[in-house]
Amino acid sequence: MIRLHNARIMPMSSDCSVFEGELWTDGGKISYVGPAVKEGLPQFEREIDLGGDLVIPGFKNAHAHSAMTFLRSFADDLPLQSWLFDKVFPLEDRLTPEAVYAFTRLAVLEYISGGITASFDMYFHRDAYAQANIDSGFRTVICGALSAGDKISIAADDYKKYNAMGELIGYLPGVHAEYTADEALLRGMSELVHELKSPFWTHNSETKSEVDGCIERHGTTPTKYLDSLGLFDYGGGGYHCVWFDESDMDIFAKRGLWAVTCPASNAKLASGTAPLGHFASRGVKLAVGTDGPASNNALDMFREMYLACVLQKLALSDAAACPAENILMAACSGGAKAMGLENCDSLAVGKAADLAVINLHRPNMRPIHDLAKNLVYAGTRDNVRLTMIAGRILYENGEFFVGDDPEHIYAEAERCTKELIGNDA
Ligand SMILES: [Zn+2]
Repeated sequence: MIRLHNARIMPMSSDCSVFEGELWTDGGKISYVGPAVKEGLPQFEREIDLGGDLVIPGFKNAHAHSAMTFLRSFADDLPLQSWLFDKVFPLEDRLTPEAVYAFTRLAVLEYISGGITASFDMYFHRDAYAQANIDSGFRTVICGALSAGDKISIAADDYKKYNAMGELIGYLPGVHAEYTADEALLRGMSELVHELKSPFWTHNSETKSEVDGCIERHGTTPTKYLDSLGLFDYGGGGYHCVWFDESDMDIFAKRGLWAVTCPASNAKLASGTAPLGHFASRGVKLAVGTDGPASNNALDMFREMYLACVLQKLALSDAAACPAENILMAACSGGAKAMGLENCDSLAVGKAADLAVINLHRPNMRPIHDLAKNLVYAGTRDNVRLTMIAGRILYENGEFFVGDDPEHIYAEAERCTKELIGNDA
């Protein structure tokens, strides 16, 4: 049992309100959250006096390709097509399980030192990816990434395998995108989704050319096309959702689907700005993701939250658009629900002990008028004091507790990067 006391706590059960008190963990779960307890305390393994610092449910990175850390700052400031086809795809073809393991270990260090407690990830070599998360103690949900020509049985087998892999690993079916799928694959996926009664996920309407291409191919937008095939009959959602028209938003709202916004990636690749203001007014549910480190280049939810808010204000010429509390809720609680991690969405008794402690003894966190605004508009990953997943402290005051020395993880990532890039660098 761990006791975090003398704390400010933002449980996010329904909003961003804060109270003073304490939180206990027992095993992987929260066993108490409430006002300070003076008497009858149980025996704790560790008691941490937080000195007034803030406890929040951890950030959930609701869209990532974590192992793409190897492409960080490898090929930036290029047009989208040449970046993707000349730089990214040829190197991805050479990836090995060993490399994905090393690059994922690196991503996890970045996640936990920035208060991120789970990721929703789509990538290759999923066994190595899952193992890197298990070895680090990090929580992840893998999204299937089938493309035209892939057998549906891959997704059916992965669903069984990864959902049986223990508490930290999950799997949801998906395809990479409409434009890399064909109708046979999508119809097969729809059958699988119905058989499993499972949510379905994919990249959706990230760029204008993707939507234009879908209209040419199928006479309608990706959202309406996928919906017409029954793929969203059991929920799910889309990554990016930048180029949504009103009827796409209505489908998402009516079916309770989640839009995962990735503002840094969308801005850096000049893809556009997702209509978050319209999502909110139409009732589209929202989560936040970083996308992969090749297109971002940081795995930093503070930056995503800031960009989501300010870009929306700019896009709508409305300083009141996209308030900080909405994005903070989307980044912590919304992401958990989107990924099917309902037990990680808030700080309450019986929920998973997945949380981050924010150091308020920093100049950018003072004064304390409104902590949600402080976090979104002034906060940085350097404000993260501690990150806990399933009751285990993985990061505290600059130190990592992930079963390996961070210097070794950096060296392995460098070694595997050199092997992959070879003479291309
Ligand atoms: Zn992506």
